[in-house]
Amino acid sequence: MTEPRSGPYIWVTWLSKLLVGDRSCEWAAWFKAHHKNYDRSPSPFDVVTWQMNHTALLGDVRAGLEADGNRVLSEDQNYFNLRGSSGAVLGGKPDLVVMRQDGTGAIYDVKTGQPRASDNAQVMIYMYALPYVNQFRGIEFEGKLVYGGGEVEIPSDAIDDSFRSHLFGLIRRISDSEPARRVPSGLECGMCDLTESDCPERIESDPRESIAEGAEF
Ligand code: SF4
Repeated sequence: MTEPRSGPYIWVTWLSKLLVGDRSCEWAAWFKAHHKNYDRSPSPFDVVTWQMNHTALLGDVRAGLEADGNRVLSEDQNYFNLRGSSGAVLGGKPDLVVMRQDGTGAIYDVKTGQPRASDNAQVMIYMYALPYVNQFRGIEFEGKLVYGGGEVEIPSDAIDDSFRSHLFGLIRRISDSEPARRVPSGLECGMCDLTESDCPERIESDPRESIAEGAEF
């Protein structure tokens, strides 16, 4: 049953798609930041296959990094909660964190699908947050996205003032007591895990299944 949280709590992956415009409905993240134990709408994706593919690729990447002599922390070892000056807490769990002898590090995220800008944004949020977390304090991280067919590198200087400004602005809107902007659409509601009981404006119909008639072309 849906309950209010004691303070705003934001999971990194709620932010990454909004940051790059892959999602528009900030209300979904706002609601989740302020509530817990809400019902989840069934996922349209084959989650089991995705998890098995992801686990297999993650294991391959970790084995390769360890074979090169790196110290590698994976998934639950990297779980963090970071409180900002506003009181909002940002939480996340990078796939792999590599700690090097020279004091630098790399944050790896492994993706089984096609590259998307939101993948970069997700890793960049980790790169911003981890140096504040005790076990990673002060380490300068670069980012690596690993896909089935290759790697994308994100240099440490990608976390610049512009990125911080966009990230902080979004976190402010999501953690505010005033609800963020709600943007119901058949496409986005179809990918949203909130149910109609928490979001009465949810649209169930898929616009890809209807075609308007009568144009002159
Ligand atoms: S169901 Fe639709 S309108 Fe409601 S929060 Fe999700 S995306 Fe936004």
